[in-house]
Amino acid sequence: MKPEKQVRDVQLPESIVVSELANRMAERTPDVIKSLMRMGMMVTANQAIDADTAEIVIEEFGHKAVRVSDSDVEQVIDMVEDKAEDLQSRPPVITIMGHVDHGKTSTLDAIRNANVVSGEAGGITQHIGAYQVKAKNGAILTFLDTPGHAAFTSMRARGAQVTDIVVLVVAADDAVMPQTVEAINHAKAAKVPMIVAINKIDKPAANSQKVRTDLLQHEVVVEEMGGDVQTVEISAKTGQGLDQLLEAIALQAEILELKANPDRPALGAVIEAQLDVGRGPVATVLVQNGTLKRGDIFVVGEQWGKVRALINDKGDRINEAGPSVPVEVLGLNGTPEAGDVLNVVETEAQAREIAEFRIQQSKDKRAAAGAAITLDQLMAKAKADQSVAELPVLIKADVQGSAEAIVQALEKIGNDEVRVRVLHYGVGAITESDVGLAEASGAPVIGFNVRANGPARASANQKGVEIRYYSIIYDLVDDIKAAASGLLSAEVREHFIGYAEIREVFRVSGIGNVAGCLVTEGVARRSAGVRLLRDNVVIHEGTLKTLKRFKDEVKEVQSGQECGMAFENYDDIRKGDVIEIFEREEVQRKL
Ligand code: GDP
Ligand code: MG
Repeated sequence: MKPEKQVRDVQLPESIVVSELANRMAERTPDVIKSLMRMGMMVTANQAIDADTAEIVIEEFGHKAVRVSDSDVEQVIDMVEDKAEDLQSRPPVITIMGHVDHGKTSTLDAIRNANVVSGEAGGITQHIGAYQVKAKNGAILTFLDTPGHAAFTSMRARGAQVTDIVVLVVAADDAVMPQTVEAINHAKAAKVPMIVAINKIDKPAANSQKVRTDLLQHEVVVEEMGGDVQTVEISAKTGQGLDQLLEAIALQAEILELKANPDRPALGAVIEAQLDVGRGPVATVLVQNGTLKRGDIFVVGEQWGKVRALINDKGDRINEAGPSVPVEVLGLNGTPEAGDVLNVVETEAQAREIAEFRIQQSKDKRAAAGAAITLDQLMAKAKADQSVAELPVLIKADVQGSAEAIVQALEKIGNDEVRVRVLHYGVGAITESDVGLAEASGAPVIGFNVRANGPARASANQKGVEIRYYSIIYDLVDDIKAAASGLLSAEVREHFIGYAEIREVFRVSGIGNVAGCLVTEGVARRSAGVRLLRDNVVIHEGTLKTLKRFKDEVKEVQSGQECGMAFENYDDIRKGDVIEIFEREEVQRKL
């Protein structure tokens, strides 16, 4: 007598690979393929089929389909918390940041050349975008060779927090500069401790004290000023202080008590990846937990693969890589992106299924990019999370004074339940780096009398980051206050209806300066408000005195057409300036 067939509950996501479906039903794959053939579908074991089809197959085999939400496919990724007794200490991972030309690359090079973990004579050729060095006390340190806060934050935006410690390089002859401030804010947003390397102290003009006092203004209180941020004076040129810098890092790492469990499936992050002509897709991965071994099957972002070879920072082939070890991974089916997270899974079918799910998901996300994170959604989410709601924002303004006034006003908003956190503020156009930081923290970008430049606008659209423009501080504070109390009306109070570029400026007697313009977007309307933008900064706001098409005064000029415009009571217009045309709308606010 045949044993009675066991009826199984089969977890069924939106799409499933045939072999995995067979696996979940505990049936043979060829039988499943046959069943599909009878339905007129010619598929291979590795192909994915949709849930409706799979459900018919499941019923045919006498099992029960249990529809699961899409993201459940990700559940095979081992998310088990490590037990305390399984944890061992791991080396710290360090990123160097700072203002351009303050010596990031020189410092990385100097550390590497003096301390690479290997006895090789002569210069070491570094193979991958990270390396490990040994400090004098024997501590191993992992350095990421991706200077630049944009890279740092874009990785964070993709879900990879790889850095444990930021070394902020500040040139002693130049002190704190705009990108120093940006770096500080990026590090703070990521809640990563900082060590300040005061570089170029070999130079006669070096003034370390100025660096320390400058930093104070940005709420970085160094040890010498009674704070807890270590500083080390170095010269990347002479090598002075580099050992102390490594010691300081090792000390900071001890305080952090960094631990990982080497005995579990690996979890890592892609530091860089490229398509190599000879070797196919290659990714440099920093192992963050577990041990990555040859033959492991993994999913990484929207790609998957099976580890064919692992190559370390010295170019040697190795069999496995443990926590904090950077390795080059071969055996990918496609090229992932920097910041993608790598997870080892059990079967190829799982890896493929997760990769396919993510591809679909990112398609959906792009499709929905128009529906950006808005202030209200942000607050709704914060409330749903039941935590103290924090509304992160990023501020760019036309002048330092406004930026500071806005920050002060915003910091006063809030109570026990909500508060506004300014991630970064600065002067000038909204850039891609701003958008990146905003995305990583789920924050909107507020432009006060400044606009986003082209790349930033494109990036914001793609990533779904909200950019809001204001020209009146009161309005700005009002809106943020409303958002913070969950009362923001979704209506826009001001919308842009067009943009025109000034091609030529004519002097017309009796009128003054007239701009010969091309309407590049939308429409120009005589009755609308106008702003004059120079390098994405608002320099004048007012109304039009005249809008001419050829010789005639007109009400409206469409995109693609040329026209003449002159401002009421304002004459300083220049070739290359942009005119923004907007309309205001009164919106009744609900309380
Ligand atoms: P990065 O833009 O921060 O990566 O800066 P670089 O490492 O490229 O350095 C910028 C310039 O400063 C180069 O010309 C370096 O040679 C020089 N430089 C870097 N560190 C030092 C230093 O400690 N002393 C002196 N005198 N020059 C340095
Ligand atoms: Mg450099």
